[in-house]
Amino acid sequence: MNNQTVMTGLFGNPVAQSMSPAMQNAAFQKLGLNFAYAAFPVANENLQDAVNGIKALGFRGVNVTIPHKVEIMAYLDEIDEEAKDIGAVNTIVNDGGKLIGYNTDGAGYVRSLLQETSFRLEGKRVLVIGAGGAARAVSISLARHGVKQIMIANRSVDKAKMLADRAARYTEAKAIDLDNLDSNTLSNTDLLINTTSVGMYPQVDDLPIPREYLHSGLLVSDLIYNPMKTRILKEAAQAGASTHEGLGMFIHQGALAFKLWTGNEAPIDVMRNVVLEKLRG
Ligand code: NAP
Repeated sequence: MNNQTVMTGLFGNPVAQSMSPAMQNAAFQKLGLNFAYAAFPVANENLQDAVNGIKALGFRGVNVTIPHKVEIMAYLDEIDEEAKDIGAVNTIVNDGGKLIGYNTDGAGYVRSLLQETSFRLEGKRVLVIGAGGAARAVSISLARHGVKQIMIANRSVDKAKMLADRAARYTEAKAIDLDNLDSNTLSNTDLLINTTSVGMYPQVDDLPIPREYLHSGLLVSDLIYNPMKTRILKEAAQAGASTHEGLGMFIHQGALAFKLWTGNEAPIDVMRNVVLEKLRG
């Protein structure tokens, strides 16, 4: 770093475990860009001051993570259309003093899916388990990219309904209570996505749906990347289904943010290797 270094970073709370600094700094280095990325723990009551700091200190931009992805929207000058639809921002670009909010989570997921599998979106029926922040990003992005139908199954069905209403602007969308899910619904599904935290370390033996519902006609995708192969992905492979891991979404959301800040295509392989190294401890 020197007096020309362009600053970027992460606002969240907590941020100590984040892999984004290592991933983004490796990418800047690979392309020989004089950029740096640091993690900033920001308490709720300091969020507006932190956003003002982006302008005051001339940062090029920041990523935003839990718990600030929704609240931060109130402090920005402009919000991109997909981020508005998702209702959350994970990337801010400082465009000559104007702060623009984007959401690269959903688009990062779609990119990962298309690059890492042979799955194509047109005409496909998607079942999303969960209706939290990650489900919103993934469902809205898939709806905007032309899937035929999205069904949202959640434990709290009111949240599933709210998300289905948003997705219905772009495609056929329905909500269902997770308890009412049955094998019939799954037999009419092409892509099943677990967006819940069920199966995440340390509860690695948990399954978000009964394993009997899995079949060979499915692509089963899990947003969790710790562990990389969750139990549902293992059960899906056993049932003859194709699988897609959550790590690619994390890499690609970062790669899209990198492109927004630097104008350059991100070195995906470098970023993936850094994260893999960290995950393997
Ligand atoms: P969130 O907003 O808290 O939503 C959590 C969702 O999981 C809700 O729909 C919740 O249902 C459901 N859920 C939690 N425990 C459950 C249980 N025991 N049974 C059934 N449903 C349960 O969290 P999020 O930010 O969306 O994150 C969700 C997962 O996605 C996490 O594992 C996270 O690591 C992963 N993620 C991955 C990436 C990536 O880049 N790969 C990015 C973001 C998130 P209720 O609404 O009923 O509470």
